[in-house]
Amino acid sequence: MGFLDFLKAKPKSCQSCQKEYPNLHKYNPIYFENKETRQSPLLIPRLLCNDCFLRQVKEDILNYKDKIVFIEPQLPEGYSFRKFADDEGKGNKVDYTPLKTFLPQDNSTCNKCGQTARFTWVFGTVIKDSQFRGEPLKFKNKDECSEYKYLCAEHLMEEFSESIKDNELFFMEFWPIKGFGDGYCW
Ligand SMILES: [Zn+2]
Ligand SMILES: [Zn+2]
Repeated sequence: MGFLDFLKAKPKSCQSCQKEYPNLHKYNPIYFENKETRQSPLLIPRLLCNDCFLRQVKEDILNYKDKIVFIEPQLPEGYSFRKFADDEGKGNKVDYTPLKTFLPQDNSTCNKCGQTARFTWVFGTVIKDSQFRGEPLKFKNKDECSEYKYLCAEHLMEEFSESIKDNELFFMEFWPIKGFGDGYCW
């Protein structure tokens, strides 16, 4: 085996369609906060190709009845859904409550098609530029950041797939949208 062979990515099989791809997403079926069931042998993470991954995320979104703020994914390390209720009273280092201001209202409509919108797409500019190294992340609220849009499930998926394609993201860990209650993906 030549030295350069080490650098070539071996194709891996998608665990849904069985086809081979150079890159796959790791879809972890367990809700991020649910540490008890994280070890469940029935819920093992699956490696999925981009098409199968997007199909699974769409199914999750269509089954979800509450509202979600999606922050444009930027890093392949991980992307997870969390409910705002999980953070309450925890005194987390990062304050996620400003993201709550981006939740759609009951009468909010999709910026692209005018249907009812349950999702908000927020661009990376929602993160405040930090002044000091090592400072915890800070988020802007809706008054401080105009780069967001309300979307229906169809157009949210369109935005999400375009974004991961443009940024060539393959998630090393993706925790799904499950349960109920307003939340955010980040
Ligand atoms: Zn596949
Ligand atoms: Zn729409």
